[in-house]
Amino acid sequence: MITQRRQAGVRKMQVYKGKSVFGGIVIGRIHVYGKREKQVKCEKTPDPQAEIMRYRKASETAMEQLGRLCEKALREAGKSGAAIFEIHRMMLEDGDYRDSVESIIASQSVTAEYAVARTADNFAGMFASMEDGYMRGRAADVKDVSERLLSVLQGIEEEGIRAKEPVIIVADDLAPSETVQLDKDRVLSFVTAHGSLNSHTAILARTMGIPALVDAGLPLDETVDGMLGIVDGAGGMIYIDPDEETLTGMRKAREAEKEKIELLQTLKGRENVTLDGQSILLYANIGNIEDLAMALRNDAGGIGLFRSEFIYLERDHFPTEEEQFRIYRTVAETMGKKRVIIRTLDIGADKQCDYFQMEKEENPALGCRAIRICLTRPDIFKTQLRALFRASVYGEMAVMYPMITSLKEIRRIREIVEEVKQELDAQGMAYGNPEQGIMIETPAAAIISDLLAREVDFFSIGTNDLIQYLLAVDRQNPALDEFRDIHHPAILRMISLVVENAHKAGIWTGICGELGADPELTREFLAMGVDELSVSPGRILPLRKIILETDVSEYKKNRPKNW
Ligand code: PEP
Ligand code: MG
Repeated sequence: MITQRRQAGVRKMQVYKGKSVFGGIVIGRIHVYGKREKQVKCEKTPDPQAEIMRYRKASETAMEQLGRLCEKALREAGKSGAAIFEIHRMMLEDGDYRDSVESIIASQSVTAEYAVARTADNFAGMFASMEDGYMRGRAADVKDVSERLLSVLQGIEEEGIRAKEPVIIVADDLAPSETVQLDKDRVLSFVTAHGSLNSHTAILARTMGIPALVDAGLPLDETVDGMLGIVDGAGGMIYIDPDEETLTGMRKAREAEKEKIELLQTLKGRENVTLDGQSILLYANIGNIEDLAMALRNDAGGIGLFRSEFIYLERDHFPTEEEQFRIYRTVAETMGKKRVIIRTLDIGADKQCDYFQMEKEENPALGCRAIRICLTRPDIFKTQLRALFRASVYGEMAVMYPMITSLKEIRRIREIVEEVKQELDAQGMAYGNPEQGIMIETPAAAIISDLLAREVDFFSIGTNDLIQYLLAVDRQNPALDEFRDIHHPAILRMISLVVENAHKAGIWTGICGELGADPELTREFLAMGVDELSVSPGRILPLRKIILETDVSEYKKNRPKNW
């Protein structure tokens, strides 16, 4: 906390400074988002029959909760989204599960909580040891449904946002899978006590275009929950229980900001052309279908990065080909003639998905992630490719492969794509011929970009990972911020090299990492000849303003080229 202003009486305003993820000012109630942590001890009971009745009652309540969730998912995500809750309901009703819990209570005279926890461990262990991949995946479900039962037994409220009106979410840190499950209509802002500017949670907040801070070091107890808060995204501040003076000042600042945003709206429909006639494409980064509205509202010329792994993170099971096909087709159709670049799944590192059942790794950022999973588990990859190639009939779709380091990988991808096409042919299923490009986000790929450029249709530079691997700084670790020099000459040289190599081979190159939205570098990227910048939707119009006001040939004359 940086200040505490004493008011008349006992009220005190608390002020914390965090790192700014996205600008904007919001005023609203604070919701402290807590993770469920349930400690279950082996406790004896003098009345096992009463415990059995408690368990049955809790099971009924959990069934009702799941019924409500099922209806909500059905409305928002269709049948496939609701399926998981159906499975959980079936598990709760399962005779073996129930018999196990009740017999542990009766034979050992223990509490319902302990019996549920034991049963969860036993059943999850049993599922995890099964041959069949689908059954193995059920281990996570049985744990999940048992957690729900424990919450009911321990009187812990259902997780989620309880407030009626939209709130400021305050959390210790949020995993990408938790963030995607939040009801976005009810989130005004995110503020986390820890977390890094480069985490996927931060990226998600940028995509949503809402004020957000990380690493704010604020308290997470009930004293803060429900209090009025102000988040000043650009200033990196959160004010808890603000005094009148601060409230008035911030309301004024919010009005001024609104005016600026309205002014930017006048740039909609304009081409992204500099004063001396150089064009650049401005596309949007998205994580799911709901972000499309933001992309269109901000006049995106296309989608430069659809992080398809969020489809996987939103579920507790592998999305089927049909589920994926419907999503990709919707995005392609919605964007019409505009290009939509869908990146194949980039699971791993900070984006963990239980049902992938990955081995624990010492260094997950250097581990089995993204294309490495796809190439070692081609069944998962092929399902996604089938859905992508089929959906590409419905628009200007392009497919992009992440974390490439070698020509060998590209050639293996090409073989798998050929197999997929042959299988679709054999089944008489229609598919298109999308552009296929790669992300340049490893130093290896950047250095051999002259060779890679001959094999693909385009490049998109992933600066988030490129910076992490080039400077050897973990993108998740805020303690390393002083060593994360995002304007480091090594980064700018690499980007320039990649653009040069792409153009020599006659392909285009974009930047889809967060650096693409850095207004201090827009002129530099224009001077390098970058063809496309793909950024959070809310960054498109501010970048357009810079582009419209730039004379690249003038800039080149006085270019502060210190790299
Ligand atoms: C990147 O690494 O720059 C990128 C765009 O991918 P992600 O942030 O999803 O790793
Ligand atoms: Mg990346």
